[in-house]
Amino acid sequence: MGRSALSAANALVDGELRPATITITDGTITAVTLGASGDDAGAGAYVLPGVVDTHVHVNEPGRTAWEGFATATEAAARGGVTTIVDMPLNSVPATTTPEALALKRSRAEGQVRVDTGFWGGAVPDNLGSLEGLWDEGVLGFKCFLIDSGVADFPPLGRDQLHAAMREIGGFDGLLIVHAEDPDVIASSPAPPSRAYADFVSSRPDEAEVAAIARVVDAVREHGTRTHLVHLSSARALGLIADARAEGLPLTVETCPHYLVLDAGSVPDGATEFKCCPPIRDRGNQDALWDALVDGVIDCVVSDHSPSTAAEKSRGGGDLQQAWGGITGLQVGFAAVADSAVRRGVGIERVSAWMSTTPARIAGVAGKGAIAAGYDADFVLWSPTDSYEVHAEALAHRNKPTPYAGLTLQGRVTRTVLRGETVFDATTDAVPATATGRLLRR
Ligand SMILES: [Zn+2]
Repeated sequence: MGRSALSAANALVDGELRPATITITDGTITAVTLGASGDDAGAGAYVLPGVVDTHVHVNEPGRTAWEGFATATEAAARGGVTTIVDMPLNSVPATTTPEALALKRSRAEGQVRVDTGFWGGAVPDNLGSLEGLWDEGVLGFKCFLIDSGVADFPPLGRDQLHAAMREIGGFDGLLIVHAEDPDVIASSPAPPSRAYADFVSSRPDEAEVAAIARVVDAVREHGTRTHLVHLSSARALGLIADARAEGLPLTVETCPHYLVLDAGSVPDGATEFKCCPPIRDRGNQDALWDALVDGVIDCVVSDHSPSTAAEKSRGGGDLQQAWGGITGLQVGFAAVADSAVRRGVGIERVSAWMSTTPARIAGVAGKGAIAAGYDADFVLWSPTDSYEVHAEALAHRNKPTPYAGLTLQGRVTRTVLRGETVFDATTDAVPATATGRLLRR
């Protein structure tokens, strides 16, 4: 702690890379002055605000064999992520009561290597008592409109979605929605199959479009701040753009796997690519990039949702039976940065999508910018280095990832949390002590 300064030839300040000297006092940025006396970042690395990943399933307690606070946050630190926000489901219990939140916090305490916030859940059982969780510091409430994949986190029906919006709007909270329509999916063929194309047909674009239309109508009625998680289908973009043009308080995220991977390249039986909604075709991927560049999509977060190998191989490669969730927390930023380079999109845009904007939408105070008053959280990223993703080398508890084998241009060389290095690529080390904090709204 105390006072220090970071001199950088290329720091992202006010949306532009420029020479800057960043003064840090007790972990907080206290001044940023333009001009640098040297380059502490080393080897031409850019100094960017730490990545803020607001969509991470840590799964502890209850499914710690799938992931856990220690492994997830080490992976985060290695991937340039200085803040994660944990999803309320897949842990046992789900974070739907103040007691469950307290238990989760007690398990996370002392284990986290990056700062960690929490979403609560809105399920049929806890409607009417959401404000208690809000008062305990969750950043908002996740709900599903379709089966979530776990029995203890049921979806909200039509009237329940309205009830949740009315209630959450009453305390100016944030609702975040998994938007796929159960009726469309129920009427889509879902034969046992190892072919990714069959899996995509079982979760069609229309399911997202129909569900998002329903959410937009509800937002129009209640005015509640609402965020769409993991948009996959570009076919819903017109609807979203119209809703925003109308002035509705609707935001939307997409994920690295939808921006980097495409359905046409997935080998048969490759369950590490299974997620809901699914990865779609290359034309869809291009349209998502256009929507990011145009500002229709606000941000990019990992939706890191691993499971054990047994869950992933359930059904022997049948994509209907395997657990749906992508392992990608450690790789997400590097993968999107690599694709951005290939597409001629500047790293300053990537940083806005993966740090500034998710912090703003989720209301994570003091994160997402290099400016006085913000936490001294940085990712140092070298545009000239490259590396190949080796699944076995990742810090996630369960290694299989669809990013394995990709060679990415650019590399995270150091991650800094409140002024302290929490990952250094030159030694491949994370420090022995975990210095992350648990965040409250
Ligand atoms: Zn998720």
